[in-house]
Amino acid sequence: MTAIAVLGSTNMDLVAYVAKAPRLGETVTGRDFRTVPGGKGANQAVAAARSGAEVVMIGAVGADEFGVRLRSALAGAGVGTAALRTVEGASGTAHITVDDEGGNSIVVIPGANALVTSLEPGDAARIGAADSLLLQLELPLEAVLAGALAARAHGVRTVLTPAPAQPLPAELLAATDLLVPNEHEAAALTGLTDVHLAAAALLQDVPEVVVTLGAAGVLYAARGREPLAVPAPRVRAVDTTAAGDTFVGALAVALGEGRPMPAALRWASAAAALSVQRPGAQDSMPTRAQTDAFAL
Ligand code: ADP
Repeated sequence: MTAIAVLGSTNMDLVAYVAKAPRLGETVTGRDFRTVPGGKGANQAVAAARSGAEVVMIGAVGADEFGVRLRSALAGAGVGTAALRTVEGASGTAHITVDDEGGNSIVVIPGANALVTSLEPGDAARIGAADSLLLQLELPLEAVLAGALAARAHGVRTVLTPAPAQPLPAELLAATDLLVPNEHEAAALTGLTDVHLAAAALLQDVPEVVVTLGAAGVLYAARGREPLAVPAPRVRAVDTTAAGDTFVGALAVALGEGRPMPAALRWASAAAALSVQRPGAQDSMPTRAQTDAFAL
């Protein structure tokens, strides 16, 4: 079984469904409200576990009801939670307004995630035992960097999703094996809107890049190789929340099993395409058997 470590965020998503989002100073009556486990770290952990890996989640939840639910959602999906700390204060929350056109606005309050500033005893060994370490930017940068350096020291592949987009320290890029931005993040990181040019520019900093392009699929670029475009399966998307996280989790599992990059990209694209056909974030992620059946 492939072993994956995730160092990242765990949030409760508080989702309000409205016809039209309120303007500043306005109050509107919404239609529905849901609380769903999220956070890019937790989402990638669930995606990897469903894809058939043994997964450990390193991070923190708060000492509140959300923390209890977030932990049990991860455990229920088969993610190891021994390295998920419970810290004083509130869990991370994302306050999301979704309108009838599917447009959304989001306020993220990091809560417990902000208190993860370094690795705890045992974390480096957990990372060292993994095939890949999955990182995103919803924890303080010093923790992300500490994780990447621990992975490097053990020869573990580091996969960084640069979201939310922000300038990346050279030290973090130097410890990144595979960078997986979406097209907006690739543009924000490079100032280039042409995806081929952006990918080429990113190769100056990291050896391999996968830019995800929504319904258009992905572009893979590696130093010294021709770029490879992999189209997404054509499906009817109903909810693309966490599509990128599903893709990354599945990709890491496929690579950990030794599949060549083109095959791994196709398998991960199948997993992501399945996830967009169902509502929800973690709930929408396919199992390994479902992805295998769809990828045939
Ligand atoms: P993010 O969710 O991070 O914004 P993308 O929107 O690029 O990232 O989606 C990530 C991946 O999910 C895509 O590369 C693709 O494989 C898959 N995906 C997203 N939207 C669709 C869609 N409408 N049809 C099929 N696959 C999709």
